[in-house]
Amino acid sequence: MPRSKESARANLENLYRIFTVPEAPDSTLGRIDQAISDNVTGFLQKHIVALENSITDIEKSFDDPKIPEEPTFVSDYTEFIKEKLVAQSVHTAAPGFIGHMTSALPYFMLPLSRIMIALNQNLVKVETSKAFTPMERQVLAMLHRLIYSESDAFYHRWIHDSRYALGAFCSGGTIANITALWAARNQLCSPSGNFRGITNEGFFRAMQHLGCQGLAVLVSRRRHYSLGKAADLLGIGRENLVLVETDDRNRINMAALREQCRRIQDKGIRPLSLIGIAGTTETGNVDPLEEMADLAEEIGCHFHVDAAWGGPTLFSEKYRSLLKGIERADSVTIDAHKQLYVPMGAGMVLFKDPAALSSIEHHAAYIIRHGSKDLGSHTLEGSRPGKAMLVHAGLSIIGRKGYELLIDQGIERARRFAEMVQEHPDFELVTAPELNILTYRYNPASVQEALAHADAETVREVNELLDKMTKRIQKRQREAGKTFVSRTSLTPERYRGQTIIVFRVVLANPLTTEDILASVLEEQCEWARHPEVSPLLDQLQEMTAAA
Ligand SMILES: *Cc1c(COP(=O)(O)O)cnc(C)c1O
Repeated sequence: MPRSKESARANLENLYRIFTVPEAPDSTLGRIDQAISDNVTGFLQKHIVALENSITDIEKSFDDPKIPEEPTFVSDYTEFIKEKLVAQSVHTAAPGFIGHMTSALPYFMLPLSRIMIALNQNLVKVETSKAFTPMERQVLAMLHRLIYSESDAFYHRWIHDSRYALGAFCSGGTIANITALWAARNQLCSPSGNFRGITNEGFFRAMQHLGCQGLAVLVSRRRHYSLGKAADLLGIGRENLVLVETDDRNRINMAALREQCRRIQDKGIRPLSLIGIAGTTETGNVDPLEEMADLAEEIGCHFHVDAAWGGPTLFSEKYRSLLKGIERADSVTIDAHKQLYVPMGAGMVLFKDPAALSSIEHHAAYIIRHGSKDLGSHTLEGSRPGKAMLVHAGLSIIGRKGYELLIDQGIERARRFAEMVQEHPDFELVTAPELNILTYRYNPASVQEALAHADAETVREVNELLDKMTKRIQKRQREAGKTFVSRTSLTPERYRGQTIIVFRVVLANPLTTEDILASVLEEQCEWARHPEVSPLLDQLQEMTAAA
């Protein structure tokens, strides 16, 4: 039945209805569900991860800046959503989508998210989140215990003591890292004598009080870019985010770290924090956390571990020792929307000392009052959704053993894929997986052979050609949309510090089978022989034959 704008307008007069829950199951919502599940199932079966439409084509569906004057029916709008949004979305849940940290979600997250949204609690204050506030505190305690394994008495003492916090729940790893460094900065520059603290007097006065020229944060060159933002925001300055050399396995070089500490101290700059990475974003490696903890203790500075990706490895009895030393960190970042399989927008920072977050405490008269149980007094963000409920759901439904299985399988799948890459004559493994991330590139056997003996100049030229080829193969593969890997650049020791482009693979989707992994390599070989790429291959072969 066609419906006129008149009746849509009549609908407007009943505006309040939009905010009442329909009594009969709403067929409109049913249709959205159907559209999503048709799509996901279709894509799962076909292993299709992207669409032919380019982003510029898609932009045409969203180029009208006018706000619609007249209301419209939800069902009409749903058609638009189905055709333009759902159908043109990237299917991050597809098992052939192994290029990024965004993966499939457990099915129960969808209906549970709807409950969370229906309740629409605001975690900034207890008045709008009575049950959610204690639930979030419980989730923080669960993750705190996973890392620090304190006694039952410890958790009994702190879990619901609103004057303290075991951590802060936030929208992701970026905010978690910023919060960790913010707390560390304020602790170092806390009030003493007639200095009223950096919070009140600012950075310049704090440096005068400490008698130093600035603060520095030291981390390996494989750090996540969020730390640059943190250094900028907190007044530390990006140049004082000191990037330390790594070893051949992308882990911070301890001798270089000590040297850098001495260098900045000689310049009158004070080390604010050392940051260890548990699961580097590009290569999935883990810094020597124990040794870093020793050094932080020795020089008396904060020790933060960025475990946004690798933190959940702690669920695994078999692999948790890879993160040894994390329990000595003053603060730890964990992203829930990565390996806890929670929808996007959930991260946490945990603090060993329940008093640590007091240094960023903030109060207001109408909410987050002194002595209230409001979580907003210890977070950077203001109004926040009840995402902790979904972490609670994952931890309860999947359980420690379920996450252990997911972690173990991911690591073992990555090892298997590394073997497949190494067994194949035309691929070169660039970084072996320590967790579930690895990098490699297409590099024909004859070229690999020649590279091993070539002079420096030839190596450089060959690598430049290989870079072009890697870029083209990755782009073609992405556009074809059957499978997807990402790409990044690395500086492996074997090429004497030359930066090369590599494929990057993240194996976190439990539905990614060995067959799919084999098809990823097969497709890359096909692209290498495709007329758009093969001239590069010919050039390579000529160059190495001459060498
Ligand atoms: C993903 C990631 C971050 C940032 O997290 P967001 O959730 O994207 O803000 C920080 N550090 C590491 C190591 C990461 O992998």
